[in-house]
Amino acid sequence: MTPVAGCVGRALCCFTGFDANVVYGYYYPVMLDRLPEFIDPLAFADKHSELTGRIKLSSLDRLSSVLAENSGTVAVTLVFAKVGRLATVEGRVSATLVVRCQNCLQTMALLVDSTIKLGIVSSMAAADALPEAYEPLWVGDKKIPLKDIVEDELLLALPAFPKHRERCYENAQSVLSQAASKNELSNLNNPFSILAKLKDTGDQ
Ligand SMILES: [Zn+2]
Repeated sequence: MTPVAGCVGRALCCFTGFDANVVYGYYYPVMLDRLPEFIDPLAFADKHSELTGRIKLSSLDRLSSVLAENSGTVAVTLVFAKVGRLATVEGRVSATLVVRCQNCLQTMALLVDSTIKLGIVSSMAAADALPEAYEPLWVGDKKIPLKDIVEDELLLALPAFPKHRERCYENAQSVLSQAASKNELSNLNNPFSILAKLKDTGDQ
């Protein structure tokens, strides 16, 4: 038998007949090039699977409702594994989200790049026993929508009051005051406003 092309000689992996696109490692992780809609996290953890791909932001309804625009995608990498008896999901989600600045109310792009570290649990006792670094991922006996994990993470990473880093509020104020003074000028040229002024000063 000859080593698989590209193999760097990790234990046990050289003499397998796996597809060359599979990332070899001690546990032979399975890498899928298309993200499935539903996943069984426990089965994925048993197989030490890795998922990489993109999800459309427009398919994430809860997130879309708080965005100014929902075009674009979120890049997802998730690695399912076992740490002792604990099934885990670790990875990263990153996306550029378009939100509305809460100072100047203009849209702004916000880069969200968030790491995920979840322990798969199905009982309160298991959730309580999780090591501190892990957040619980509740799983019953059904498959769960993959996008729920991604959407929850993006919502958590999104600031409640997104704001420009620069002092956009002052710029917005000066634009407003310029507009207001233009308005005053045009009011001065308005014959009705002149009449109103005459009326105000009175001809008594
Ligand atoms: Zn702003």
